[in-house]
Amino acid sequence: MGRHPNNGHSHQGRLSTQILTYCSNGPLSEGLPPVALNVVGLLVQKFGGTAVGDPDRIRSVAEHVSRTVRHGNQVVLVVSAMGKETDSLLRLAEDVSSTRPGREMDMLITAGERKAMALMCMALHDLDLPADSFTGSQAGFVTDGEHQNARILEVRPDRVQAALDTGRIPVVGGSQGVSTDHNVTFLGRGGSDTTAVALAHALGADACELYTDVTGVFTTDPRVVPTAKRIDRISFDELLEMTATGCPKPAMRSVEYARTHGVRLHVRSAFTWQEGTWVDEEEPDMEQAIISAVTHDTSEAKMTISGVPDQPGIAARVFRELAEAGINVDMIVQNVSTEGVTDISFTVPHEYLDRAMSTGGSLSTEIGATGVVSDDAIAKVSVIGAGMRTNPGVAATMFETLADCGVNIQMISTSAIRVSCVVSEDRAEEAVTALHESFGLSGD
Ligand code: ASP
Ligand code: MG
Repeated sequence: MGRHPNNGHSHQGRLSTQILTYCSNGPLSEGLPPVALNVVGLLVQKFGGTAVGDPDRIRSVAEHVSRTVRHGNQVVLVVSAMGKETDSLLRLAEDVSSTRPGREMDMLITAGERKAMALMCMALHDLDLPADSFTGSQAGFVTDGEHQNARILEVRPDRVQAALDTGRIPVVGGSQGVSTDHNVTFLGRGGSDTTAVALAHALGADACELYTDVTGVFTTDPRVVPTAKRIDRISFDELLEMTATGCPKPAMRSVEYARTHGVRLHVRSAFTWQEGTWVDEEEPDMEQAIISAVTHDTSEAKMTISGVPDQPGIAARVFRELAEAGINVDMIVQNVSTEGVTDISFTVPHEYLDRAMSTGGSLSTEIGATGVVSDDAIAKVSVIGAGMRTNPGVAATMFETLADCGVNIQMISTSAIRVSCVVSEDRAEEAVTALHESFGLSGD
């Protein structure tokens, strides 16, 4: 980031969670969504595809914005493409073209957000709220030139700030920017979350609210474990570990950005408007469960190179070649060697398995290993909690729980606040359910 133009606005974190808390203006049964208390703050509100999926949804978002403004807040909106529009545009491109140049793909995909932002402004005008839409480029998002996966280099939100200063509501198209050589760029799937967080940082907003179709971040996937509970408050570190191990929302990149720059997040529902999950720095007085969440991820496959000579430089060579083939390796386990040879296992995303197997195959011959095998029917099950830093026995409880259901552990890895096990894919949901129960996360 080139600068931190707080422009006289309140700074991040100045308002306490309590002041920013929203409460109901009346029984929800009367159809009155919650409104903000007497808060004067700057909020960036991002609305996902389903939240702006049809004309009624767009109008109800506008009404929510109107209530937020009436309570004294300044609001900047970030919108995704309506409903499944990004998917439709991608399919359309496939139907038309086999080459699909990156520059044109980004021009096409960003049209989805552009449509949504113009319609959103119209709905706001109908409520007598002056609003202006801005493309990523107009909003000052400067990116690299990596089409369909562009990285933000700098945010210069001068026009957004100027609109705010004259009492207008800026509505910014999500997931887009302009490259240093002046081409339109797309930040990638889920990139609107990153747009919102980056804008909140650049404007010095008090919080960034991510409105979605679920009511917050849950202790585990509620589709797998119906007793999963919404988490009221979680730390950046924990949410980052969750999104890295299978929790689909918010987008991992946006959580990384929020953590690096200390942007407070509020993940909440655009359907019930109820209070969601606050994401913030970990505080010493944070009421701390030892384990905050259980996640699972079935998107990876396992590979094992066996009979690898146990000599300096072999692992370096294996993983350098995989990296050069563009393969992102996750968990790595190397056995204790017996008689000068060892096994190395690691996981790779499913879509890279074929490529990884052919790289691994030729490598194995070159280094004198005995063979390469893979298994794509695996799942990674993880328990995450900042409390495990100071509480022994988390790994033991996890392994005992899996043992009690007869689930075999194939690989283990840990971080300071996470323990992950690779298990057979068909046992993953059973493992998640049992772990959620044994760490006391299920409601009573
Ligand atoms: N519409 C884009 C997508 O679906 C960007 C976003 O919503 O974050 O990936
Ligand atoms: Mg999205």
